[in-house]
Parts: sequence; C-alpha cells; structure tokens
Amino acid sequence: MEREIRTRFAPSPTGHLHIGNARTAILNWLFARHGGGSFLVRIEDTDQERSTAASEEMILEDLRWLGLEWDEGPGVEGPFGPYRQSERQELYARHIAGLLENGRVYPCYCTAEELDLRRQERLERGESTNYDGRCRSLTHEQKQRHEREGRRPVIRFRSDETRDVAFTDLVRGDVLFPGSNIGDFVIARQNGIPMYNFCCVVDDHLMRITHVLRGDDHVSNTPRQVLLYEAFGWETPLFGHSPMILGNNRERLSKRHGATSVSQYREAGYLPQALVNFLSLLSWSSESGDEILPPDRLVSEFTVDRLSKSAAVFDTVKLTWMNGLYIRNLDANTLGGLLRPFLRSAPAADLSVERMETIARLLQERLETLADIDEKAAFLFADRPRPESDEAAAMLGEPDAQRVIRELLTISGNADSWHAERFPELMKQVQAATGVKGKMLWMPVRIALTGMMHGPDLASTFGFLGRDRCRLRLEAALAGP
Ligand code: GLU
Repeated sequence: MEREIRTRFAPSPTGHLHIGNARTAILNWLFARHGGGSFLVRIEDTDQERSTAASEEMILEDLRWLGLEWDEGPGVEGPFGPYRQSERQELYARHIAGLLENGRVYPCYCTAEELDLRRQERLERGESTNYDGRCRSLTHEQKQRHEREGRRPVIRFRSDETRDVAFTDLVRGDVLFPGSNIGDFVIARQNGIPMYNFCCVVDDHLMRITHVLRGDDHVSNTPRQVLLYEAFGWETPLFGHSPMILGNNRERLSKRHGATSVSQYREAGYLPQALVNFLSLLSWSSESGDEILPPDRLVSEFTVDRLSKSAAVFDTVKLTWMNGLYIRNLDANTLGGLLRPFLRSAPAADLSVERMETIARLLQERLETLADIDEKAAFLFADRPRPESDEAAAMLGEPDAQRVIRELLTISGNADSWHAERFPELMKQVQAATGVKGKMLWMPVRIALTGMMHGPDLASTFGFLGRDRCRLRLEAALAGP
C-alpha cells in the first residue's frame, strides 16, 4: 500500500520568513496537498541563542498569510508532537543513549583548542582535516579520567571514511558523497543539546515524513542524515533539493538585492496568491505551460518530476506584473478591504466599506501593488487637484470649457441626488444648454474634478466626490489656476 505523503517545513526561528524558505514551504505544502497528504510545521529552535518566540510567531503568521495552513505543528497538535524541538529534548536524549550503547556514536572529550591545533598540524602535512579519531576507542577509565578533569564531551558519529554515501535526489538525480569528506561529525554539543542533523533525522522519522523538499544549501547535510538513518535502522525519506534563488546579478538572493522577507512583500502591497504563484514558478513549471496559476491550480498541477534543476532569478518586475493581474481579478469589495490599510493619507470618514469598494472599482485597473493606492487615490482627497499639465490647464481655460463648467454648476446646484448614475443625465442637460459636445464637453469636467486628462471612470468619481467636493472643484476651475 502507498504510504500517505507527509511533508514538513522546518524553520529555525531566528528572524523573518525569508523568501527562499517560503519557497521551500510552498513546495512542501503543494506536494502534500496535491497528493492528499499532510503538511507539518516543525520549529527547529535548538540554537537557543538565536531562536526567539517573536521570530516563531512572525514566521507562523507569514505562513498563514501565504495560505499555507498546516495539518500538524504549533497550534495544531497532532499525534507526533510536540512540534518544537526545544520540547523534544528527552526524546533526543533517549535516541542518543541508544546509539551510544551500540557504539554508533561516541563521546569525544577533545577541547576546541586541541582540535584547532591538531587540525592545523594536519593541514600543514596536507592531510584531511576531518576529526582525527582520538576519542574513538577510549576505555572506560580514560573516559572517567576526562570526566574527573571536568571535561564535557560532545557526541560524535562513527563514520566510515572508506564508504561513499549515495542517495537519489528527486531534483538532482543520483548523488554520491565521498566518505572521506564526511568524517566523524558531531551530533550533540557539550551541553547535551543535539545538533540539527541529528534532531532532523529523529524528528523526520518519528513524524513519519515521507518526502523532504528543501534548498540545496542543505544537500551536504543529507549524506550525514542518511548515515544516521542507517545507524538507527530506519528507512530514509525521499529527498529533493532545489537550487537557491538568485538575485538579478545571478548571485544568491540576499538583502543587497532588495526585499528578501515575506513580510516586506506583504507590507509593500503584494498579494499572497501572487507571491505563492511567483515563488512556485522559480522552482517548478506546470505541464500546461501556464504561468498564472492561483493556489487551487498549483495544487492540482504540482508534481515533483517538474521541479527544476536550474537556479532561477528573482525577477521583481515579473512579480509586480503578476501582482497587478491578481489585483485586477479580485472583486471590488475584497479589494476595498485590502486597500484600506494602505490608504494612509485619506480622511477616516472616507474609508467606509462602501467607499472603499468604490475606490477599488475606480482604481483597480491602475494598481500593481496595494501600496500604489495611496498615490493613485490622492486626487480624490486633495483639496483641489491641480491640472496635471499645461495642456490640461489651457484646456480648462477655453471659453467652451468655462461655459460647460458653469452650466454644470448651475444645474447640479438644484440636483437632489449626486449618485454616479445621475451624472450622464446631468451632462446631457449641459450639452443641450451649451451646445458643446464630445471631447470639449467631457474633458473640462474631467480636468476640473480630477486634474487629469485621462483617468478613472468619471461618473463614479463624481459620485464618490459628492456634492460639496464636486462643487468646490468646479468653482475652483472657474476661478482659474
Ligand atoms: N531548520 C533548517 C533550516 O531552516 C531546516 C532544514 C531542513 O529542512 O531540513 O534551514
């Protein structure tokens, strides 16, 4: 029987959720969802100095925002918890004891200074800088002597330098690591806290993880993890390592290239669906060849055999373009709600649900990010939008333009309703009274009300501005610049 697919995302809570890690989370989530399996989140917080609860909360919040809900993990307790490594120390200790007993690992009492010195000597002799194995076969008495001297041991894995380690990677194919590069690596620190490679193996096994998709910065850890699986007599999960994401100069994406954390993109007005779509395509492509793939399509079309072997460049221009498409596909009510926090310069009275919906409808076509709204909507809230150009100002000064505006002021003075729907009728009356039509009829009104010669729908703008603001603007246009 096929095993249920179980994937996990295992962030270290030492900062914000980085774009590269978000990519890893997305791939694991997609794979689990596609196969009807489970997606877990495990917090790897054994580095006590760098891990913080605040970072954990930020990372979880970003995952939720991206829509990557997890089936087991912090806040969603399941059968294989706890899901925070700091709460699993007892489990690790038990597993280390087992390996100590069968001799697969051993305590090493060498101090950092001793190790440094010997590594230096070996380097000078042109020998391998792996651990030299001094503590490999200490007798009971020797260990006791070290303990009496107050030395605290690290725990090392007994590796066989003559044996290469092979595994099949879902992305890279067959991978072979020379045993001579591995050496007797440390699995637990002097303070007893185990290292990443060890915890990762114990957790992935106990949490029944079937597939480990992660960035290829971890590919050199994998042979060590494979050796640990072997030592425990456990089946290894399948591994897939995706190439790192690159910045536009083809170097690994870093702060030098601009925003690198998910929260920065959220604050800059990107939509989670667009970011998920974009990040998926950095590592994978759909067989359909389509690129605009909302989450449900990503889930149904995702397969590991289409994960890419080559590194992709993080192209902000493409992300922004994609974000604009997603914004245009939202319904105005939803978009209005999303835009509200970005509309910093508008008076609070203008931010009711209905008015936000109107703003969304007016400007939806013109936004690439939600944050664009502050500038794009400024004309709605300005005291009096100035004509955007000399041409616009000149047009407003034309005698016909002035007649149109004066007439609109006169008839709208008596208008009882200022809804957008009334606007065409008012303009028809203006046309009848002045004999002006076409561009000379509409353009002056547009410039007077918005300052722009081209812009959002005029009737809706008229309705949004309402009686007082419209009249002020029309009067100002009569008064001249
Ligand atoms: N805590 C590791 C990291 O954040 C997880 C690596 C893994 O997925 O095994 O890089």
